[in-house]
Amino acid sequence: MRVSQFPLATLKEVPSEAEIVSHQLMLRAGLIRRLASGLYTWLPLGLRVLRKVERIVREEMDAAGALELLMPCIQPAELWQESGRWEKYGPELLRLNDRHQREFCFGPTHEEVITDIARRELRSYKQLPLNYYQIQTKFRDEIRPRFGVMRAREFVMKDAYSFHIDEASLDETYQRMYAAYTKIFTRLGLDFRAVAADTGSIGGNASHEFHVLAEAGEDAIAFADGGDFAANVELAEAVPDRDERPQPGEPLRLVDTPEAKTIQALVEQFDQPIERTVKTLIVRASEQVGGGLLALILRGDHQLNPIKAEKLPQVASPLQFAEESEIRAVIGAGPGSLGPVELPIPIIVDRCAAMIADFGAGANVDGKHHFGINWVRDVPLGPVADLRNVIEGDPSPDGKGRLRIVRGIEVGHIFKLGRTYSERLNATVLDEQGQPAVLSMGCYGIGVSRIVGAAIEQNHDARGIVWPTPLAPFQIAIAPINLHKSQRLREAVEDLYRNLTEAGFEVLLDDREVRPGVMFADLELIGIPHRVVLSERGLDAGEAEYKGRRDADPRQVPLAELTTFLR
Ligand code: ATP
Ligand code: MG
Ligand code: MG
Ligand code: MG
Repeated sequence: MRVSQFPLATLKEVPSEAEIVSHQLMLRAGLIRRLASGLYTWLPLGLRVLRKVERIVREEMDAAGALELLMPCIQPAELWQESGRWEKYGPELLRLNDRHQREFCFGPTHEEVITDIARRELRSYKQLPLNYYQIQTKFRDEIRPRFGVMRAREFVMKDAYSFHIDEASLDETYQRMYAAYTKIFTRLGLDFRAVAADTGSIGGNASHEFHVLAEAGEDAIAFADGGDFAANVELAEAVPDRDERPQPGEPLRLVDTPEAKTIQALVEQFDQPIERTVKTLIVRASEQVGGGLLALILRGDHQLNPIKAEKLPQVASPLQFAEESEIRAVIGAGPGSLGPVELPIPIIVDRCAAMIADFGAGANVDGKHHFGINWVRDVPLGPVADLRNVIEGDPSPDGKGRLRIVRGIEVGHIFKLGRTYSERLNATVLDEQGQPAVLSMGCYGIGVSRIVGAAIEQNHDARGIVWPTPLAPFQIAIAPINLHKSQRLREAVEDLYRNLTEAGFEVLLDDREVRPGVMFADLELIGIPHRVVLSERGLDAGEAEYKGRRDADPRQVPLAELTTFLR
């Protein structure tokens, strides 16, 4: 590709709408443009990267025996009424009417549609197991679209759904998907962890999330270095109403609710020893509210030791004490955090109430801490692992190693759904005895478009993106100096371009009439892994200048060896 025919859409200024580095760089490098909140156009350069992610995902899903299909984006309300989610899903579901006033939604996920396919197409246990997948546009009307493609409203997901006659078969496919995901994220060149996850509002009995480790992550994950233990400390999704959002900076006041009374009662007991409790509370709270932010409820007469920020990486230090008579929550920004944020009052109140109630309840049994309060409205909560009380450096629940608590970006999620959907939609096949048997199901998602942002969070420097090679839109950039002044140089450049292309590289030839500084800055910003500079002077010496994107300095490579060198 030549830049004259593949124009770069780089920007010099950091766009003010972008809070985190990947979002800034995706805009500055000309990968995406915003259309409206949570809606993005993938420009040609960005689309090349997105397609690379898709290709790796597709190859590994195919290799794991999954079958690709493509379901409609628009789904009829009747199916969602059958599963019970038309009522339950809340405002994240974009609902539409057609010209006959029939109700539809734009699919945020496809359990209903695939279960409908299964009940129509599958007759016998002999057709099982089956694993269908698609790579497709989803829509979720996220309460707070942000971070560009990382939390968009319209985004690309790979979603797979497997069908089984029994649990043993489901287990087997689940393991195979776990392995496929491990391969995918490894091939993508990402630093990731698979963690045990709460099944949240989806229901079912086993689930793992795959997280790319990055400070901008909205989840907190705990894992033991050197051990097997890894879990998400995110608890459940909350879908508050839009009008429940507080104004930025507005202090949060507890209303007269049972939670408020619990808090009041429990805070009374907090006199001594308080330090660990408060530390834990802060860690928990800042993790729960996401984005490196701190929500804390304190009463004015407690003198707390200042908490050491370096021990608690996600935690903010400015604590604000409320009036003696009043309990307030304070939202503050911590080191490495993203600045002040809007948070739904009921969520903070509920979360803190639950956390405090949890300490007060003291329901530690055999090191397992079960959490019985339905603290996020309308979200059924199962028991969760003992993570509420842990802080960085605590022993792992399995006794192997000490816990690290870091931020993660959820890029994949696998669930054993069991019979939740197949029962509601009555999806059965005939078993060995010729009797109808309800299908067992698994589902497996990957945030294809989110991965592009997550990869940049992990791979950038002050000059721009540093693509892992498998994701790079082009592997090699040719940057000629004063191309338009020299016939000899033009010929050498064309030769090199042809040779490298024939050798299988994706090459970007910068044939613009711009200063070398401008050219280099653009090529570094868009993150091309290898840069080759050709000049008259280099030709005289029979050399090209080579610089890897991570290298501090360029070096000379004999022209004759260049293709071999780059392989
Ligand atoms: P999150 O916790 O980030 O809201 P989720 O748990 O709601 O994600 P899933 O239902 O598990 O998401 O969907 C599968 C995958 O789709 C997620 O692991 C994530 O990578 C991706 N994804 C979910 N929501 C978005 C979004 N708003 N924008 C981009 N990708 C998303
Ligand atoms: Mg979500
Ligand atoms: Mg999630
Ligand atoms: Mg998920």
